[in-house]
Amino acid sequence: MGSWWGGVSATKQGGRGGDGLRGDGVRAWGRVNERTGGGCKGGLLKGAKEALQAGRIWTLEKSATPLTKEELGRGTWALLHAIAAQYPDQPTRQQKRDAKELMAILSRLYPCKECADHFKDVLKANPVHAGSQAEFSQWLCHVHNVVNRSLGKLTFPCQRVNARWGKLDCKDRACDLQGTPDLK
Ligand SMILES: Cc1cc2nc3c(=O)[nH]c(=O)nc-3n(C[C@H](O)[C@H](O)[C@H](O)COP(=O)(O)OP(=O)(O)OC[C@H]3O[C@@H](n4cnc5c(N)ncnc54)[C@H](O)[C@@H]3O)c2cc1C
Repeated sequence: MGSWWGGVSATKQGGRGGDGLRGDGVRAWGRVNERTGGGCKGGLLKGAKEALQAGRIWTLEKSATPLTKEELGRGTWALLHAIAAQYPDQPTRQQKRDAKELMAILSRLYPCKECADHFKDVLKANPVHAGSQAEFSQWLCHVHNVVNRSLGKLTFPCQRVNARWGKLDCKDRACDLQGTPDLK
């Protein structure tokens, strides 16, 4: 993942639990400007290098390219399987609605039209099952396999989905979802 600031491609390095690429980027920008007095490209580059040498959280890349369809797919599936892994055993009505809505939104806004259109058909044939964590993660594994098959890929054994995409390893279960109150 990368972000552009002042013509420098920056990549977040190491460590879990950072508070977001853009937020960190903005802070890095602030630090660089503090050091250089701001504005000047040469000064900005110098400041960025100093920040790197000082062991802060960015490395410089020579180039950064837009996501490929495959990278986008891998990132999206990782997010979806992580959501399913963290999904509560006993979701609230709102959480069930959110799960369905998330999939419906993906089928409309996923930034690859061919994929979004295909996913719409997949959802029509396989309505979301989100009655529990197990149900949701198995359903997601199944629809991922539907997509895999359509692309001529191997299917994944869904009995192994928890081994591949287990709950996040967060201290004191801080990543566990709380029940969300009804919004409607
Ligand atoms: C909603 C959606 C629709 C898409 N539609 C299209 C499309 O129409 N055309 C297109 O070209 N691309 C599409 N893609 C992208 C495509 O599915 C792949 O993500 C991409 O081709 C990269 O594939 P990959 O082999 O690296 O593994 P991915 O399919 O991205 O999977 C990532 C990892 O998940 C694991 N995995 C694989 N299958 C499963 C499963 N069933 N359950 C759990 N874990 C699994 C494996 O460890 C795998 O390495 C879509 C992506 C999404 C999210």
